[in-house]
Amino acid sequence: MIDLTTEAPWEYSPRETAFMDYAECANMDPALFDTVTRSGVTARMGSVSTATGRMPRFKQIAIAKAACWVCPVAKECLEFAKSHGLTENIYGGLLPDERL
Ligand code: SF4
Repeated sequence: MIDLTTEAPWEYSPRETAFMDYAECANMDPALFDTVTRSGVTARMGSVSTATGRMPRFKQIAIAKAACWVCPVAKECLEFAKSHGLTENIYGGLLPDERL
């Protein structure tokens, strides 16, 4: 998950973000969950820079979704994204267009 508590901490209450303490992705590279390109669109193709180097987008998305698949707070994460209208990145194991 993108670290919302540092990116926009004023927008979310501690109660809303408490689930993040139990996230499978808590110690993972946030870049693995970032699907937005420099031009601001969601990408499924091409490649992306991560903490371990560049990798194909399909691999990045697969790694992120695998973490979400076993995440104990996936439901809360998905509800958080939906309730805040987050239209970018991976939350609850779903890409933005999959969360509609
Ligand atoms: S569902 Fe995925 S993005 Fe959300 S907290 Fe769990 S591992 Fe992170």
